[in-house]
Amino acid sequence: MKTIWLHENKWEDIEAYLEKKKTIIVPFGSVEQHSKHLPLGTDSFVAKKVAEDAGRLTNTLVAPQSWFGWAPHHMAYPGTVTLRPETLTAVVEDICQSLIYHGFEKIILINGHREANLPPIKIAATRLRNKTGAFLPIVDPFYFNSEIGKALRRSEPGGIGHAEEMESSHMFHLYPELCEPAEVAINIPEKHRFLQHDPFIEGDRVLSSSDVNSYREDTKGIGIMGDAMGASSSTGEQYHKKFLENLMELIDFCERDVTVNLRNREIPL
Ligand SMILES: [Zn+2]
Repeated sequence: MKTIWLHENKWEDIEAYLEKKKTIIVPFGSVEQHSKHLPLGTDSFVAKKVAEDAGRLTNTLVAPQSWFGWAPHHMAYPGTVTLRPETLTAVVEDICQSLIYHGFEKIILINGHREANLPPIKIAATRLRNKTGAFLPIVDPFYFNSEIGKALRRSEPGGIGHAEEMESSHMFHLYPELCEPAEVAINIPEKHRFLQHDPFIEGDRVLSSSDVNSYREDTKGIGIMGDAMGASSSTGEQYHKKFLENLMELIDFCERDVTVNLRNREIPL
């Protein structure tokens, strides 16, 4: 293959790739407000870069990232674009079903939008797994990198949420030209310990949804939930390095230990 990007190759390159390897990485993100210091495309940019770097390190094909996700609460700020969850589920299903039709057996889904995108993507992955036998692990940075996240964070409990320390550090490292570090902010509202929306602290175990009608006020008219004051590109660099190590381990596991017998290989109609 010419590059690791699916869309930059010719069909013959893909045919040759499939003779040796059946794994592909598919990144998903979101276009939504990310406070005053990060661009709207943050979640998609992160998913794209993580997928691209892991693809290069392991010689694994990467499908072009899907930009849009499910982000109704972020509609409180201009520029946000949200899909309906059913649309996102359908997009994931159709992309993966097309890949499975061609013989891809292991499809690593990178979700840059974290908690909000997970239900629609999980529905698609579960349907495809049961229908086709394909293996479709979902990689979400919040959960996938919890160890390094806990080790690197400097903020208080409640500091990890949206456009906060970890996400900002990652972006400062990957796309400094798109960020405004001078605009970082903090917003840690008083909440019950079960409802912090901070996956790196103990006790935050209840899921509750945000309301678009109060979201602008809830995020102080800035768009942040958590604390980005301690964000730095050096933290982002360590976080990215560990993210890639974890991803390489997962890709290696898919290659060596996961056996798939595809069935029901159908074109999405
Ligand atoms: Zn984000």
